[in-house]
Amino acid sequence: MVECIRCGKEAVVELRYCKEDLCQYCFKELFEKRVWKANKDFSLVTRGDRIVVGVSGGKDSSALLFVLHKMAKKIGDVEIIPVLVNEGIEGYRNKAIEKARELCEKLGYELNIVSYKETVGFSMDEVMKVRGPNGHKSCTYCGVFRKNGLNQAALDFKANKLAIGHNADDTSQTFLMNLLRNETHRITKFGSQTSEEEGLVKRIKPLIYCLEKECAWYCEAAELPYYLGECPYANESFRGESKEFLNELEEKYPGVKFNLLHSFLSIQEELKKNPVEEKPFLKCASCGNPCAGVKCKKCEFVEELTSKKNASKS
Ligand code: SF4
Ligand code: ZN
Repeated sequence: MVECIRCGKEAVVELRYCKEDLCQYCFKELFEKRVWKANKDFSLVTRGDRIVVGVSGGKDSSALLFVLHKMAKKIGDVEIIPVLVNEGIEGYRNKAIEKARELCEKLGYELNIVSYKETVGFSMDEVMKVRGPNGHKSCTYCGVFRKNGLNQAALDFKANKLAIGHNADDTSQTFLMNLLRNETHRITKFGSQTSEEEGLVKRIKPLIYCLEKECAWYCEAAELPYYLGECPYANESFRGESKEFLNELEEKYPGVKFNLLHSFLSIQEELKKNPVEEKPFLKCASCGNPCAGVKCKKCEFVEELTSKKNASKS
């Protein structure tokens, strides 16, 4: 039996990047400490917050909801509102919703659900049929629609924060993608949180110091229901390939993901010392949401898909 390096009980996880084998209790404690550390470093959750938590039934958001539930109790005067955005992916999200519902019931929350069908008029299954050969990649539509759905839900619930389950893997992937696309101007725009803008609820990422596979281990250790299936449209994206690349590197050189994450955080801090003047947000001519151009991406995509759908009928 491999022993937990901290307490001597049977180890169930191996943290190769720091050469530690841990039992489920010590691992759970470590995971929660990391979330508290992120909270201390970035002031993510404070008294008086009303937080919409984006849940999906997957491991990251199930771990997120549970740790935030515990934190809210400890901090006091923090309201948690779970919201699930249903993309409309048959055989995938409908199964995950059941797990999200189970977790919410266990913790005593009502699960609020909004769907792409209601917010943009197309389910993801329909988007994939309608988009045609010159359309965007699946996750490009989906990412924009999800961001919009969650933000709108947070506005509707009058929440001052929107918590999402992005973990250390997500942040290091985004950083790598920014570098590979020479989009260094984006480096100051993501990370542990976004700034608050009119019409855009501040997004916080309490799992920024936790690896993706640790979120699954945490769900196991805390006996949380979660769905492990993979989205059938996932393998189209640049993110998917960046993820695979980083997973392979991590396998060979344990610790590279955290190294990349901390490089990102240091560079971001330096860049923030000399902020570049940002162009103020404009209002989308169609829906009035904040956007950088004449129309927001959501409206642009909805128009594109609607005209493709109409053209296919005639
Ligand atoms: Fe949407 Fe892409 Fe995630 Fe599937 S993998 S749910 S298409 S963002
Ligand atoms: Zn718009």
